[in-house]
Amino acid sequence: MATKKTQRKTAPRPRASANSNANSKDGKFRRVLGVFAHPDDPEFGAGGSMAKLAADGANVTYVIVTDGSQGGEDPKQKDSELKAIRMKEQRAAAKVLGVKKVEFLGYKDGHLAHDLKLRRDIVRMIRKHKPELVITHIPGRVLDAPMGGSHPDHIAVGEATMAAVYPDSRNPRAFRGLLKQGFQPHVVNEVWIPYWTLGDYYVDISKTLDKKLAALKEHQSQVAKPGMEWDVDKWIRKRSRDIGKKAGYRYAESFKRIKV
Ligand SMILES: [Zn+2]
Repeated sequence: MATKKTQRKTAPRPRASANSNANSKDGKFRRVLGVFAHPDDPEFGAGGSMAKLAADGANVTYVIVTDGSQGGEDPKQKDSELKAIRMKEQRAAAKVLGVKKVEFLGYKDGHLAHDLKLRRDIVRMIRKHKPELVITHIPGRVLDAPMGGSHPDHIAVGEATMAAVYPDSRNPRAFRGLLKQGFQPHVVNEVWIPYWTLGDYYVDISKTLDKKLAALKEHQSQVAKPGMEWDVDKWIRKRSRDIGKKAGYRYAESFKRIKV
Protein backbone atom coordinates (compact mmCIF):
# COMPACT_ATOMS: atom_id res chain seq x y z
CA MET A 1 0.00 0.00 0.00
CA ALA A 2 2.73 2.42 0.98
CA THR A 3 4.47 1.83 -2.34
CA LYS A 4 1.29 2.51 -4.24
CA LYS A 5 0.75 5.75 -2.37
CA THR A 6 4.31 6.84 -3.04
CA GLN A 7 3.91 6.06 -6.71
CA ARG A 8 0.77 8.07 -6.88
CA LYS A 9 2.34 11.05 -5.19
CA THR A 10 5.27 11.07 -7.58
CA ALA A 11 3.16 10.58 -10.67
CA PRO A 12 3.63 13.81 -12.64
CA ARG A 13 0.14 14.08 -14.07
CA PRO A 14 -3.16 12.25 -14.39
CA ARG A 15 -3.00 9.20 -16.61
CA ALA A 16 -5.57 7.23 -18.50
CA SER A 17 -6.90 4.38 -16.40
CA ALA A 18 -5.66 0.96 -17.44
CA ASN A 19 -8.94 -0.17 -18.90
CA SER A 20 -9.87 3.08 -20.58
CA ASN A 21 -8.98 2.83 -24.22
CA ALA A 22 -5.31 2.05 -24.72
CA ASN A 23 -4.43 1.19 -28.29
CA SER A 24 -4.75 -2.45 -29.10
CA LYS A 25 -1.65 -4.59 -28.58
CA ASP A 26 -0.53 -4.35 -32.19
CA GLY A 27 -0.26 -0.57 -31.78
CA LYS A 28 -3.08 0.10 -34.23
CA PHE A 29 -5.88 2.49 -33.49
CA ARG A 30 -9.41 1.20 -33.24
CA ARG A 31 -11.25 4.52 -33.20
CA VAL A 32 -10.11 7.78 -34.76
CA LEU A 33 -11.94 11.13 -34.81
CA GLY A 34 -11.01 13.90 -37.23
CA VAL A 35 -12.34 17.31 -36.11
CA PHE A 36 -12.08 19.95 -38.84
CA ALA A 37 -13.62 23.32 -39.66
CA HIS A 38 -14.67 22.89 -43.31
CA PRO A 39 -15.52 20.20 -45.80
CA ASP A 40 -12.23 19.31 -47.57
CA ASP A 41 -9.95 20.17 -44.59
CA PRO A 42 -9.46 16.54 -43.50
CA GLU A 43 -8.51 15.48 -47.03
CA PHE A 44 -6.01 18.30 -47.57
CA GLY A 45 -4.36 17.91 -44.18
CA ALA A 46 -4.52 14.22 -43.49
CA GLY A 47 -6.29 12.33 -46.31
CA GLY A 48 -3.47 9.85 -46.86
CA SER A 49 -3.24 9.09 -43.16
CA MET A 50 -7.01 8.77 -42.79
CA ALA A 51 -7.02 6.18 -45.58
CA LYS A 52 -4.13 4.34 -43.98
CA LEU A 53 -5.71 4.31 -40.53
CA ALA A 54 -8.96 3.02 -42.02
CA ALA A 55 -7.16 0.35 -44.05
CA ASP A 56 -5.39 -0.75 -40.85
CA GLY A 57 -8.79 -1.38 -39.27
CA ALA A 58 -9.62 1.86 -37.48
CA ASN A 59 -13.16 3.09 -37.38
CA VAL A 60 -12.63 6.66 -38.60
CA THR A 61 -15.25 9.37 -38.10
CA TYR A 62 -15.15 13.00 -39.19
CA VAL A 63 -16.68 15.94 -37.38
CA ILE A 64 -17.06 18.88 -39.78
CA VAL A 65 -17.86 21.95 -37.71
CA THR A 66 -19.09 24.50 -40.28
CA ASP A 67 -21.53 24.26 -43.16
CA GLY A 68 -18.98 25.38 -45.77
CA SER A 69 -21.31 28.15 -46.95
CA GLN A 70 -18.50 30.67 -47.54
CA GLY A 71 -16.46 28.32 -49.71
CA GLY A 72 -17.45 29.91 -53.00
CA GLU A 73 -16.89 32.94 -55.20
CA ASP A 74 -20.47 33.75 -56.21
CA PRO A 75 -22.22 36.02 -53.66
CA LYS A 76 -25.57 35.28 -55.35
CA GLN A 77 -25.45 31.52 -54.88
CA LYS A 78 -27.89 30.47 -52.18
CA ASP A 79 -26.29 29.27 -48.95
CA SER A 80 -28.63 26.30 -48.91
CA GLU A 81 -27.44 25.20 -52.34
CA LEU A 82 -23.73 25.47 -51.54
CA LYS A 83 -24.20 23.77 -48.15
CA ALA A 84 -25.90 20.81 -49.80
CA ILE A 85 -23.15 20.53 -52.43
CA ARG A 86 -20.40 20.62 -49.84
CA MET A 87 -22.02 18.02 -47.59
CA LYS A 88 -22.43 15.72 -50.56
CA GLU A 89 -18.82 16.25 -51.63
CA GLN A 90 -17.55 15.63 -48.10
CA ARG A 91 -19.49 12.39 -47.76
CA ALA A 92 -18.18 11.18 -51.12
CA ALA A 93 -14.57 12.08 -50.20
CA ALA A 94 -14.87 10.30 -46.86
CA LYS A 95 -16.17 7.21 -48.62
CA VAL A 96 -13.13 7.13 -50.94
CA LEU A 97 -10.85 7.07 -47.89
CA GLY A 98 -12.82 4.43 -45.98
CA VAL A 99 -14.11 6.90 -43.40
CA LYS A 100 -17.26 5.40 -41.91
CA LYS A 101 -19.23 8.40 -40.74
CA VAL A 102 -19.35 12.18 -41.13
CA GLU A 103 -20.98 14.34 -38.46
CA PHE A 104 -21.85 17.92 -39.48
CA LEU A 105 -22.21 20.38 -36.60
CA GLY A 106 -23.72 23.02 -38.89
CA TYR A 107 -22.02 26.17 -37.58
CA LYS A 108 -21.96 29.05 -40.07
CA ASP A 109 -18.79 29.03 -42.14
CA GLY A 110 -16.45 31.92 -41.31
CA HIS A 111 -18.16 32.71 -38.01
CA LEU A 112 -16.36 30.41 -35.58
CA ALA A 113 -14.84 31.47 -32.31
CA HIS A 114 -13.35 29.29 -29.64
CA ASP A 115 -16.12 29.55 -27.13
CA LEU A 116 -17.69 27.23 -24.60
CA LYS A 117 -20.56 26.22 -26.86
CA LEU A 118 -18.19 25.03 -29.59
CA ARG A 119 -16.03 23.26 -27.02
CA ARG A 120 -19.04 21.53 -25.50
CA ASP A 121 -20.25 20.36 -28.89
CA ILE A 122 -16.84 18.83 -29.61
CA VAL A 123 -16.74 17.22 -26.15
CA ARG A 124 -20.09 15.65 -27.03
CA MET A 125 -18.62 14.23 -30.24
CA ILE A 126 -15.55 12.88 -28.44
CA ARG A 127 -17.67 11.24 -25.75
CA LYS A 128 -20.01 9.82 -28.38
CA HIS A 129 -17.32 8.30 -30.62
CA LYS A 130 -14.67 7.50 -27.96
CA PRO A 131 -11.58 7.92 -30.13
CA GLU A 132 -8.11 6.88 -29.02
CA LEU A 133 -6.71 9.33 -31.56
CA VAL A 134 -8.03 12.79 -32.45
CA ILE A 135 -6.75 14.63 -35.53
CA THR A 136 -7.44 18.36 -35.72
CA HIS A 137 -6.16 21.79 -36.77
CA ILE A 138 -3.20 23.69 -35.32
CA PRO A 139 -4.58 25.63 -32.32
CA GLY A 140 -2.98 28.93 -33.30
CA ARG A 141 -1.74 31.10 -36.12
CA VAL A 142 1.40 29.89 -37.90
CA LEU A 143 3.17 32.93 -39.25
CA ASP A 144 5.73 31.11 -41.39
CA ALA A 145 3.12 29.06 -43.30
CA PRO A 146 0.70 30.15 -46.06
CA MET A 147 -2.23 32.22 -44.72
CA GLY A 148 -4.80 29.65 -45.84
CA GLY A 149 -3.76 27.26 -43.10
CA SER A 150 -4.44 29.88 -40.46
CA HIS A 151 -8.08 30.46 -41.44
CA PRO A 152 -9.76 31.82 -38.29
CA ASP A 153 -12.20 28.88 -38.29
CA HIS A 154 -9.23 26.46 -38.25
CA ILE A 155 -7.68 28.21 -35.26
CA ALA A 156 -11.00 28.18 -33.39
CA VAL A 157 -11.57 24.47 -34.04
CA GLY A 158 -7.96 23.58 -33.16
CA GLU A 159 -8.12 25.35 -29.83
CA ALA A 160 -11.64 24.18 -28.96
CA THR A 161 -10.69 20.59 -29.78
CA MET A 162 -7.50 20.68 -27.72
CA ALA A 163 -9.49 22.05 -24.77
CA ALA A 164 -12.15 19.40 -25.35
CA VAL A 165 -9.53 16.62 -25.34
CA TYR A 166 -8.02 17.98 -22.15
CA PRO A 167 -9.54 18.41 -19.70
CA ASP A 168 -13.24 18.41 -20.57
CA SER A 169 -13.89 15.09 -22.31
CA ARG A 170 -12.38 13.16 -19.42
CA ASN A 171 -13.72 15.33 -16.63
CA PRO A 172 -17.13 14.24 -15.28
CA ARG A 173 -17.56 17.67 -13.71
CA ALA A 174 -17.23 19.45 -17.05
CA PHE A 175 -20.41 20.18 -19.04
CA ARG A 176 -22.58 18.14 -16.69
CA GLY A 177 -25.57 18.43 -18.98
CA LEU A 178 -23.79 15.96 -21.25
CA LEU A 179 -23.82 13.35 -18.50
CA LYS A 180 -27.59 13.68 -18.28
CA GLN A 181 -27.74 13.05 -22.03
CA GLY A 182 -25.75 9.84 -21.54
CA PHE A 183 -22.32 11.03 -22.74
CA GLN A 184 -19.85 9.52 -20.29
CA PRO A 185 -16.31 10.87 -19.74
CA HIS A 186 -13.74 9.59 -22.17
CA VAL A 187 -9.93 9.73 -22.22
CA VAL A 188 -8.25 10.45 -25.57
CA ASN A 189 -4.69 9.07 -25.83
CA GLU A 190 -3.19 11.04 -28.69
CA VAL A 191 -3.72 14.12 -30.83
CA TRP A 192 -2.17 14.52 -34.29
CA ILE A 193 -2.05 17.95 -35.86
CA PRO A 194 -1.28 18.24 -39.57
CA TYR A 195 1.76 20.47 -39.60
CA TRP A 196 3.50 20.94 -42.91
CA THR A 197 6.34 23.12 -41.71
CA LEU A 198 7.21 21.83 -38.25
CA GLY A 199 5.73 18.34 -38.09
CA ASP A 200 7.82 15.81 -36.22
CA TYR A 201 5.77 12.67 -36.86
CA TYR A 202 5.62 11.26 -40.38
CA VAL A 203 3.06 8.90 -41.83
CA ASP A 204 4.05 6.97 -44.94
CA ILE A 205 1.24 7.60 -47.43
CA SER A 206 2.97 6.09 -50.46
CA LYS A 207 0.21 3.49 -50.74
CA THR A 208 -2.68 5.84 -50.02
CA LEU A 209 -1.68 8.99 -51.92
CA ASP A 210 -3.85 7.97 -54.87
CA LYS A 211 -6.86 7.69 -52.56
CA LYS A 212 -6.10 11.11 -51.12
CA LEU A 213 -6.00 12.60 -54.61
CA ALA A 214 -9.22 10.84 -55.57
CA ALA A 215 -10.91 12.08 -52.39
CA LEU A 216 -9.79 15.65 -53.08
CA LYS A 217 -11.33 15.40 -56.55
CA GLU A 218 -14.71 14.80 -54.91
CA HIS A 219 -14.53 18.40 -53.65
CA GLN A 220 -15.27 19.74 -57.12
CA SER A 221 -16.70 23.02 -55.78
CA GLN A 222 -13.31 23.74 -54.19
CA VAL A 223 -10.70 22.33 -56.52
CA ALA A 224 -12.33 23.43 -59.76
CA LYS A 225 -13.67 26.90 -58.99
CA PRO A 226 -14.37 28.73 -62.26
CA GLY A 227 -11.40 30.95 -63.08
CA MET A 228 -9.37 29.41 -60.27
CA GLU A 229 -8.47 26.05 -61.73
CA TRP A 230 -5.32 24.64 -60.21
CA ASP A 231 -3.49 21.40 -60.50
CA VAL A 232 -4.22 19.90 -57.10
CA ASP A 233 -2.63 16.57 -58.02
CA LYS A 234 0.67 18.18 -58.92
CA TRP A 235 0.68 20.42 -55.88
CA ILE A 236 -0.16 17.64 -53.42
CA ARG A 237 2.29 15.19 -55.00
CA LYS A 238 5.11 17.69 -54.70
CA ARG A 239 4.29 18.58 -51.11
CA SER A 240 3.94 14.92 -50.12
CA ARG A 241 7.22 14.10 -51.84
CA ASP A 242 9.02 16.98 -50.08
CA ILE A 243 7.70 15.85 -46.69
CA GLY A 244 8.50 12.22 -47.54
CA LYS A 245 12.15 13.10 -48.18
CA LYS A 246 12.52 14.18 -44.56
CA ALA A 247 11.38 10.76 -43.36
CA GLY A 248 12.73 8.42 -46.04
CA TYR A 249 9.30 7.72 -47.56
CA ARG A 250 8.24 8.27 -51.14
CA TYR A 251 5.21 10.28 -50.00
CA ALA A 252 4.34 11.35 -46.47
CA GLU A 253 2.14 13.56 -44.33
CA SER A 254 3.59 15.20 -41.25
CA PHE A 255 2.02 15.91 -37.89
CA LYS A 256 2.75 17.22 -34.46
CA ARG A 257 2.03 14.16 -32.35
CA ILE A 258 0.88 14.90 -28.85
CA LYS A 259 0.54 12.18 -26.22
CA VAL A 260 -2.23 13.31 -23.93
ZN1 LIG B 1 -10.65 25.02 -44.04
